[in-house]
Amino acid sequence: MIDIHAHTTVSDGTDSPRALVNKAIIQGLDVLGLTDHDSVAGWEEASSAIRGKLKLALGAEISCLTLTGLSVHMVGLLFDGSDVAMLEMLEQTRDDRIPRMIKMIELLNADGISVTMDDVKAAKPPGATLGRPHLADALVALGFIKSRDYAFKGLLNNDSKYYVAHMAPTPEIAIAQIRAAGGVAVIAHPFASHRGETLHPDDFLPLVEAGLNGIEVDHRDQSMEERKILREIAKELNLVVTGSSDYHGTGKLNRLGENLTAPEEWAKLESLAKGKVVQL
Ligand code: AMP
Ligand code: ZN
Ligand code: FE
Ligand code: FE
Repeated sequence: MIDIHAHTTVSDGTDSPRALVNKAIIQGLDVLGLTDHDSVAGWEEASSAIRGKLKLALGAEISCLTLTGLSVHMVGLLFDGSDVAMLEMLEQTRDDRIPRMIKMIELLNADGISVTMDDVKAAKPPGATLGRPHLADALVALGFIKSRDYAFKGLLNNDSKYYVAHMAPTPEIAIAQIRAAGGVAVIAHPFASHRGETLHPDDFLPLVEAGLNGIEVDHRDQSMEERKILREIAKELNLVVTGSSDYHGTGKLNRLGENLTAPEEWAKLESLAKGKVVQL
């Protein structure tokens, strides 16, 4: 059982890196991908928790913005976590999430939704990559909404008037950076249409030319029809097909291991990376 996309308290998940590894071990996973948003800060703790048959694929989910302003997520796995250019790219994105959050708060305040940066900070674990889920948690704590999920269906959706983008590399730059650091790049949930506008089938070729290795096909935010089209695109462009849970602990409905990557597809990905999985 291979689940290569999951989050911890290092970004917007609710399990610590150690707790996530323990959960994967209890569930009998063979490979777990640690992919916090724009951060590798959980790598050490997760690596130290590894035992038994579980292998850990260290990575990150890199927030990207296309030149037309579309939000895209790129999962990078098995790259060198000390690569300076990579660390700088991730840090720049994390830094710009702060002014972006302030802008979103100002827009909410203007409509009488009184939430402050301190409220959001109180909802965020120390050191975690700041994101909309923490704003959602603050709004829940203040009684404006009932859950994170509810926030993402309305107030904080990508199509909402309160949504503000943050600075991020283009998908091509993120892919090139992941590959230059010895990793493999898988585009995350590219057709998750209920989050807002998505990529189009024609958008994949330039990504392949930049070095894209795989497409996340089996993901709860993609319908069966969307997955079918993605599978065809992957076949045509000779890309690895992955499936994953995008587990966030109690922060999202996604259950660890609810979608999986086939062993032969994972083997292809692993063979393309310079980095190695962590194992006992
Ligand atoms: P941000 O990176 O700040 O733009 O926030 C995006 C994050 O919100 C992504 O990590 C998603 O996993 C998370 N997210 C999207 N939809 C939901 C949802 N329905 N419930 C909880 N978290 C969500
Ligand atoms: Zn997330
Ligand atoms: Fe994502
Ligand atoms: Fe994710």
